[in-house]
Amino acid sequence: MLPFLIILFVTGAIIGSFLNVVIYRLPRQLSIVSPGSHCPRCEQPVKWYDNIPLVSYILLHGQCRNCGLPIAPRYPTVELLTAVLWVVAGIQFGLDWPLLPALLLVSALVAIFFIDLDHYIIPNVIVLPVAVIGLAANIAISPGDWWVFLVSGLGAAGFFFAVAMLYPGGMGMGDVKLAGMLGFFLGTAIMPGLFLGFLIGAVTGIYLMASGQRGRKSKVPFGPFLSIGAIIALFYGDRLLELWLNLVQG
Ligand SMILES: [Zn+2]
Repeated sequence: MLPFLIILFVTGAIIGSFLNVVIYRLPRQLSIVSPGSHCPRCEQPVKWYDNIPLVSYILLHGQCRNCGLPIAPRYPTVELLTAVLWVVAGIQFGLDWPLLPALLLVSALVAIFFIDLDHYIIPNVIVLPVAVIGLAANIAISPGDWWVFLVSGLGAAGFFFAVAMLYPGGMGMGDVKLAGMLGFFLGTAIMPGLFLGFLIGAVTGIYLMASGQRGRKSKVPFGPFLSIGAIIALFYGDRLLELWLNLVQG
């Protein structure tokens, strides 16, 4: 088990390093592949040995080797976060087919979390292909339950579409598509996922207003909360559903 988890940690950190590029460049409509990483101040290309996920940040004391410009802590954070999520996915799913869509989902959600946080957009180029792959993967893994994933995705998107129509200016079409994507991945676990998303969003919103950091009318993206709810549901959704059913049945 340990070598398997170490491989997941290292691969997750490398994917996280790639997600940093996606998070920075995709919303700015810059190419993902070229030019290579460079320092924003001295424009010196980052050497391969200074571009090792997590390790280089520590060895360089968080500074550009050439000019000493601090490297944003966001970069190692995204690498570590992705690595940890890959390890948790490995522990939850083991070396089995459902691990593959789980790794894809957590990686996509890391990118969506930070892009929506920074720019208030959820890019179609991430959500749409990932949604299709998620549905196809779940149908391939459990063909008997194909309709569960289809209905969960369409239901979640439909629910968000209704909310977006009823309260214009809150939810956007990006959230509608994201909810659909999550349903395709989570199946019935989409219910605790959305519930947790709304709960975490509401608690954070109240906190931001109470602490005066945001006004009642100011914009707070919903994608990050949906992403957190979905990741918890991916790992613990079955148990949450069971708990809920037990509570309902008394
Ligand atoms: Zn520099």
